[in-house]
Formats: sequence, C-alpha cells, structure tokens
Amino acid sequence: MYYTGTIWRPPYEASSLLLEVTAGCTHHQCKFCTLYDDLPFKFRMTPMEDIEADLKEAKGQFRIWIGHKISRTFLTGANPFVLKASRLNDIVLQCQRLDRAGISYNFFYLTGVSGAGKGEIGARKTAEVCNQLHPQIIGANMLTIYQSSELYEEIQKGNWKEEQEIEKYRELKTLVEHLNIPVWFAAGGASNAIPIQGTLPRDTRKVISVLERIISSVDENELRDYRKNLRHL
Ligand code: SF4
Repeated sequence: MYYTGTIWRPPYEASSLLLEVTAGCTHHQCKFCTLYDDLPFKFRMTPMEDIEADLKEAKGQFRIWIGHKISRTFLTGANPFVLKASRLNDIVLQCQRLDRAGISYNFFYLTGVSGAGKGEIGARKTAEVCNQLHPQIIGANMLTIYQSSELYEEIQKGNWKEEQEIEKYRELKTLVEHLNIPVWFAAGGASNAIPIQGTLPRDTRKVISVLERIISSVDENELRDYRKNLRHL
C-alpha cells in the first residue's frame, strides 16, 4: 500500500481499509496543527494508478485473511474531498445533499478550539449545525498545542488563550446537552484523557453525568499533566 508520512485516522476506523487518496492538507492554515509537518509537501492528490494498485493489493490481501471482513474504507489525508475552506460555511447544504443521497458521514469536533471563555458558545453553535443534519458519529478530540505549532507562538505573544482542561469538559457537556439528533458520540483517542462515549439520545443523561463527575472531581493539574506529557496524538 502507498502511505506517505503519518497516517491519521479516527479510533473507530481501526478495522477499515485505509486508502491514501490524498496526503497532507489543502488548507494548512490552522495555527494549532502539526499533523502533516513530516511531509515534504503541503498537499498532494495520489495518482490514480497508485490508488488502483492499492485497491488490487487490498483485494489480494483480503482473500488471504479469510474471515476478516472489511465493510468500510477510510480515505486518508486531511481533505480527501478537496473542499476549499471558503466552502465550509456550506456545511449544512452539502451534508443535506449527502443525507438525501443516502451517503453516511461523520463529524470531528475539536474541543478547545474556540479558546478560553468561548468553548461553551462554540459548543452551542456546533450543536445548532449538527441538529440540522444526520451524522452517524460525532467524534470529539481535545485541542493539544505542541510547541512547534504557530498557535503556541501566538499564545507566547499573548494573542490567544487556551481553555483550561476543566473548561474543555464543560464545553463537551454543553455540546451533548444541546444535541437533539440520534448520533453516536465518542470522545476517544489519545487527546481525551478520559474516554467517553454513548449513543444519543438513549445515553445522553449517562454521558452528561460522567462529564459532571469529571468536572466536579478531577484535578485540573492532573489533566494538564496528561496533556503536557502527550508526545503524540
Ligand atoms: S487542522 Fe485539519 S484543516 Fe487545519 S491545517 Fe491541520 S489538517 Fe489542515
């Protein structure tokens, strides 16, 4: 299989076929992001012959792994659909088209990206968007700022302030409280010190009570230490 640099995938895609249709990111402007720093280019579409070769190879492998059923394919790269950032305001329209076409999709939520004091506002606005759509999964990851990122420099200059760890959990709680669609909510992966998941709305109360317990009982410094010691996402 053709893989370039670190391959990033959500935890729930662990059994999927990972197909590199793009590498890197078309946007490349998020100041917190260090995901594709190991690539010698910013973005690249994979040549069609490489994709075809990968599909043939995968087909051959699956004949060998009898009993291993692949039911999903995850297209790797930050932006396999190559949507321009300016079109992301279109998210409701484009996802409604996916809904009508019967194509399933998932959302990432980056807890903490709104900055100190703004997380709960960001969560409420995000829930407003999600509630108009039908994602299968909302996967939440927590903002983790590495020293090599531009955002770290902005923080040092006093231009941006990171949320405290407990504030990030309050933000997540606000998000779950305001979601009113059926969806699998999963805060897993290394950036979440405490993994939380549940099928909403059935588990909404349970997820909120776990978040409330974290907010009232877990020490800010312990959570901060976890993040400081997170060498890799
Ligand atoms: S966070 Fe995503 S969109 Fe932003 S630069 Fe990183 S990979 Fe690209």
